[in-house]
Amino acid sequence: MTTNKLRYERPVIQKMNTGLMNKFGTRTEYEPVTHIEGVPVKSLIEQYGSPLFVLSEKQIRRNYQNATRIFSTRYPKVQFAWSYKTNYMNAVCQVFHQEGSWAEVVSGFEYEKALNNGVPGNKIIFNGPDKTDAHLIAASQNNSLIHIDHFDELYSLIRLSEELDLKPRVAIRVNMDTGIFPKWDRFGFNFENGQAWTAITRILNSKHLDLVGLHCHIGTFMLSTEAYAMAATKLCELAWSIKEKFNKTIQYLDLGGGFPSTNTLKGSYLPGSDTVPSIDQFADAITDVILGFGFKQEDLPLLILETGRALIDDAGYLLGSVLASKRLSDGRRATILDFGVNSLFTSFWYDHKISPAQPFSQQTEEMVLYGPLCMNIDIVRESITMPILEKGDQIVVHKVGAYNMTQWMQFITLRPNIVLIDQENNTHIIRKAETLEYLELNERIPEHLQQNAL
Ligand SMILES: *Cc1c(COP(=O)(O)O)cnc(C)c1O
Repeated sequence: MTTNKLRYERPVIQKMNTGLMNKFGTRTEYEPVTHIEGVPVKSLIEQYGSPLFVLSEKQIRRNYQNATRIFSTRYPKVQFAWSYKTNYMNAVCQVFHQEGSWAEVVSGFEYEKALNNGVPGNKIIFNGPDKTDAHLIAASQNNSLIHIDHFDELYSLIRLSEELDLKPRVAIRVNMDTGIFPKWDRFGFNFENGQAWTAITRILNSKHLDLVGLHCHIGTFMLSTEAYAMAATKLCELAWSIKEKFNKTIQYLDLGGGFPSTNTLKGSYLPGSDTVPSIDQFADAITDVILGFGFKQEDLPLLILETGRALIDDAGYLLGSVLASKRLSDGRRATILDFGVNSLFTSFWYDHKISPAQPFSQQTEEMVLYGPLCMNIDIVRESITMPILEKGDQIVVHKVGAYNMTQWMQFITLRPNIVLIDQENNTHIIRKAETLEYLELNERIPEHLQQNAL
């Protein structure tokens, strides 16, 4: 007969802090997270290694359909464009494109990625301050939507269109005071100081450029719906003046991205899921302004949204394993994981929810979660109350779908596998773990350095 012997855990005396009681109790975990979309964490790690990124196709589609429903029940003409930089794994982009999302790109290689994914040129929005002449020409020829960021780009585009007789469809990116501090005024043309209007008049006076839209992207992880109402108001005012002074109808207003996910920002007292406004509230703020502004029904602009983070964060998980646990000099428990800030870039600004992947005892302790990197800033959580974790235990980090798979870096460890769980709960590798060979693919060793003295 085999019995499951309880693991010995040595008792610890814990300092109690008064006055800082968390109203949800001190335990942060009540149940282990043993499965993701019905697939056991244990078998995922067995098959694909640890650490491992996992994405749920079902959740991505659910998020997309939910956001589309919310906006299109409030406003008649809505279009989402997937923000490539938020997660540009091609499999992820294709899920969004299958759902009907256009592409929103901010660099030349992202633009090419969207074309390679089969997105028609006229459904690609090209943002960002760094577009080469070659990309401006390609985007014009493909009839993409070029969002002009600064006057130098505007003049380049006017010159190229005259030289090559192109007629690009353009919008300008507008930055503005939305009551948010710090102001995001480094991208686009400023509304308040008249720069945006100057850019508009230059475009409308050029025979080559076709001004079709107005764009803004007012920040990221925005907690204020009022800021979006303000942004929508200012874009509407510009569209209104364009109609009045130039008798030109603006086809679309693009309110950019920036809606928060339900992650918890570092330093927040309450979990993100309790504090961030819902997409419904953002949709109300934006569509109330546009619908109430007074446009004629046939002139109502298409509303474009470039939502990134809020559509993918909760569809991503990072699975990992405990390498060791130790006591720090001040007596605190430290748990060392097999992934660090190199893979989980967002641990710099989120207190990620982290769950043990196997059953655990009642005992909890405040601990630091470190990654495996040889650097002091490699901290996944500075302080978290968790059940005791031991070498070999597995954990699940929640809501990591946004920005990690694009901002990760090869530092000390290489990037792990990414697996997508499809709607029938089958698993697919969508990006293979990197190898030394991959890392060195682009390296060249000069002749005189090919031998060493050892
Ligand atoms: C990054 C970015 C987005 C997406 O932002 P989220 O905060 O992830 O929603 C959208 N538009 C532009 C121009 C961006 O740079």
